[in-house]
Amino acid sequence: MKVIDKIHRAKEEGRPFWSFEYFPPKTTAGVMNLLDRMERMYNLGPEFVDITWNAGGSSSDLTSELIATAQSVYGLETCMHLTCTNMPKQKIDIALKAAKACGNQNILALRGDPPRGEERWESCENGFAYASDLVAYIREQYGDYFSIGVAGYPEGHLDSTDKEEDFKWLKFKVDQGADFIVTQLFYDTELFKDWVQECRKRGIHVPILPGIMPIQSYGGFVRMTSICRTSVPESILEALEPIKDDDQAVKDYGVKLAVQMCREIQEAGTQGFHFYTLNLEKSTRLILEGLEFVVPRENIRSLPWNPSLSKKRE
Ligand code: FAD
Repeated sequence: MKVIDKIHRAKEEGRPFWSFEYFPPKTTAGVMNLLDRMERMYNLGPEFVDITWNAGGSSSDLTSELIATAQSVYGLETCMHLTCTNMPKQKIDIALKAAKACGNQNILALRGDPPRGEERWESCENGFAYASDLVAYIREQYGDYFSIGVAGYPEGHLDSTDKEEDFKWLKFKVDQGADFIVTQLFYDTELFKDWVQECRKRGIHVPILPGIMPIQSYGGFVRMTSICRTSVPESILEALEPIKDDDQAVKDYGVKLAVQMCREIQEAGTQGFHFYTLNLEKSTRLILEGLEFVVPRENIRSLPWNPSLSKKRE
């Protein structure tokens, strides 16, 4: 089923919904672990799961394989990321064909970052220059078969020097046929809420799913926020400073913070949340429990009927 139809259904039913993002692991053992985790996390009722695409191509076959397994073996609704980096049209065609063959109907169309070791992004021969070109190509080749998502940047894309240009190109991606937006991670909820309003003012009306990345470790958080140049509110830095050497305390704080962020943006009208799981289960589960979107695991056995476990696989 298409992600956009699932989003519309959740909106009609007036209920929150969530999705999980995973990346292809580097080793066979990692792949087995991830498949186990995805199967367990099925019980947390994600509306769909994303598998990222390795720009540059080294693990892109694995993305297609993980999508096929999650979609046709586990019955999860999948969304395959697809980037333009080093992807001539012939390779794009192969990836889309494989996605369709396994029943996947959802693509997150991206330009991609430069391959490792390269500073500037350049399109390859017979490839695309921007995500909007990929969106247009998928629509041209497949009509309405795929629901197409694109990336949005509440703090502006790193290459962009002009916020207005960024809005313009985001709208262009939607005009080319994208039907939902997933955002880059952020930690300032006011900034996210303002950005959504600015999108709406500029005629971008498709659903926007906030990308929530729970803090899993202090080092990882510092690395990620500096790579993405994410603004971090002072209150978060102050809360982390005294606990930064205590991994468990950082994880616990990460859960508490994500619950608070989701509540704040939910109050402003957001119904759907996209979790960057980093292939980890516990924080995402605790956040969903904290939000009372799912029943705490320790209570599950005592329930005569558990809605999340009996959720119909479609
Ligand atoms: P685009 O929308 O093409 O934008 C790139 C830049 O070009 C922007 O500055 C934009 O303003 C500008 N621009 C766009 N169109 C035009 C135009 N026609 N003319 C001039 N300028 C233009 N990367 C991966 O490698 N694999 C993944 O799986 C992956 N998943 C992601 C998931 C999410 C939710 C997000 C937010 C990012 C993800 N990324 C992933 C990272 C992404 O590939 C990078 O951020 C990349 O640098 C930009 O991709 P884009 O699709 O946003 O590019």
